[in-house]
Amino acid sequence: MVNQMATSQASCIECGGNGWIRVPYSQTKEEIHAMCPTCAYTGTVDPKTEEHYKNIIREKEERIEELLRDNKKLANEYNDQVERLRKAGVI
Ligand SMILES: [Zn+2]
Repeated sequence: MVNQMATSQASCIECGGNGWIRVPYSQTKEEIHAMCPTCAYTGTVDPKTEEHYKNIIREKEERIEELLRDNKKLANEYNDQVERLRKAGVI
C-alpha cells in the first residue's frame, strides 16, 4: 500500500521556526545569532525526523535541569534567610 499523504512540516523546535538561533550570551559575551543547524535556516523540519524528536527531548531535559537548578537556588536562599532569622533571634 502506498502512503499518499503529503509530508507536513513542523516548526523547528531548535529555533522556534525563526531559522536562526541565539548563541548563549555566556559563551560569547555579545549578541550573536547563528543559522539554525537543525532546519538549515528554513524554520521547518519534517516532524518524522529523528533529529526533530531528539531536539524535543533535549529541550525538555534542559528545561528540567534549569528548573532543578532554580529549585536548588531557591532552597538555598530560603535556608539562608531562616539561618539569618535564627541568628537574629527572631525564630
Ligand atoms: Zn531551526
